[in-house]
Amino acid sequence: MDRQLPLAAAKSQRPGNTESGKAQDSATPWYGFCVPPVSRRLVRRAATAVAAVALTIGLTAPAFADPSDDADKAEKKLTEAESQLDDSSNDLESARSALADAESQLDDARSELNRIQGELADAQERDEESQERLAEAQEKLEQAKAAVAANQKRVEEQREKAGEVVREQYQKQNSLVGLAMVVDNTTAGTLQTRAQWSTTMFNATQAKLDALEEAQQKLEAAKKAQAEAEAEAEAEREAAATNLSNMQELESEAQAEESRISALVAAKSDAQAEVETQVEADKDRVAEMAAESEEAQEKLEEYEAEQAKKAEKERKEREAKAKKDKEAAEKKKEEEKKAEKKKEEEKKKAEKEKKKKSDSSRDATKTSSAAAVSPIKPGNYRISAVFGQTGLWARYHTGLDFAGVYTGTPIRAAKDGVVLSSTAGGWAGNHVILRHSNGESTLYAHMSRKSASKGKVVKKGDIIGYTGATGNVTGPHLHFEYYPKGATPGSVYSAKDPRAWLKKNGVNI
Ligand SMILES: [Zn+2]
Repeated sequence: MDRQLPLAAAKSQRPGNTESGKAQDSATPWYGFCVPPVSRRLVRRAATAVAAVALTIGLTAPAFADPSDDADKAEKKLTEAESQLDDSSNDLESARSALADAESQLDDARSELNRIQGELADAQERDEESQERLAEAQEKLEQAKAAVAANQKRVEEQREKAGEVVREQYQKQNSLVGLAMVVDNTTAGTLQTRAQWSTTMFNATQAKLDALEEAQQKLEAAKKAQAEAEAEAEAEREAAATNLSNMQELESEAQAEESRISALVAAKSDAQAEVETQVEADKDRVAEMAAESEEAQEKLEEYEAEQAKKAEKERKEREAKAKKDKEAAEKKKEEEKKAEKKKEEEKKKAEKEKKKKSDSSRDATKTSSAAAVSPIKPGNYRISAVFGQTGLWARYHTGLDFAGVYTGTPIRAAKDGVVLSSTAGGWAGNHVILRHSNGESTLYAHMSRKSASKGKVVKKGDIIGYTGATGNVTGPHLHFEYYPKGATPGSVYSAKDPRAWLKKNGVNI
């Protein structure tokens, strides 16, 4: 029988298997003593990671208090570096914002210049068209002037021709009058001839006059056309002048925009240079900070190593002392046992004799009529937690708690059996497991000390240890578990109700 109690497994199965020594302890959180403290190194790693993030996004990493002076200094350096980096990040941010501003203004100015240049191009086109129209108008004017001159000349000619006809007619009329005076006889034929001639003459004159009038009308029309062409040319000249002044205005606007752009380009270049300088500076600071973090990390590691060494030394000292105490206690117990045995033998002898007298058929080897005894003497305890109870435990309470006891109250074997294991450590602290004759087992946890070694045969009622508060507890008490045949003692969720088991064995708790 060399089975080891799978304590580590049992512990990991129910990290919250904490016992309440007193009823009011149910309000006490268990994690105060059973959760291992988070490694400082782990915290430091997290801090370094946060700092690394801070390097890029400008956050401040949380500060950690540290009992070590060196670690404190390292911490301070780290905080300073972080704060510097913070400032630096702010500077960079404002430089970047100035650059973005300049760039946006530059974009605006450039699009404004584009607009003005477009307008100017339109104006230039309009100017060209205007110049063409002006040239056309002037040509038209020249043509109109030439037409006027030609018509005037024609009028002169017609006038002259008409004058000649009139003069000729006049002379001919005079000669006819003279002829009539000479002939003094007016014949019908003569008269007819004369009338015919007169009509012819009149018609010729009329034609000349008509031609003259027509020429004059043409002249008027030509003059009118000339005036119109002049007005048109004038209008074109005016339009061209307006367009020109508009163009001059646009040109000066474009010039202003261009100089604004030059200024903005200069501003942008300044902002860019500032950003670059800032980035350069940040790189240096980041490198500096990384070096400081590294240094801080090393110091903390040194400190932790020192602490671990110290703790190891203390642990060894404690162990040596415990061994010594144990040896002394065992020796004392041995003596006590001898005395007790002697006393019991005497008592048994007396009882035997007494029983022999009263009932000779009764089994003399039993000290009680029941198969089992209460692991704590009746009257010395109160039950603070029963099997199956839920509360602070990971799933449910796997035993029966005898509380109201002081450290050092004797714990008794509930039934005859053999010590299966006598172990220290884990959630159960110092504990003893007994294997009984029919394959059942009982477990006694949280002892201040054990007084039964592995393999030892015990009778019900034998003292196997003393109450204490070792393992996960809030106060001194006995946590008592029962395992039926086939169950693995210590595999807590295979435990059954110990109270029922005791009752079956004649003990009412
Ligand atoms: Zn318990």
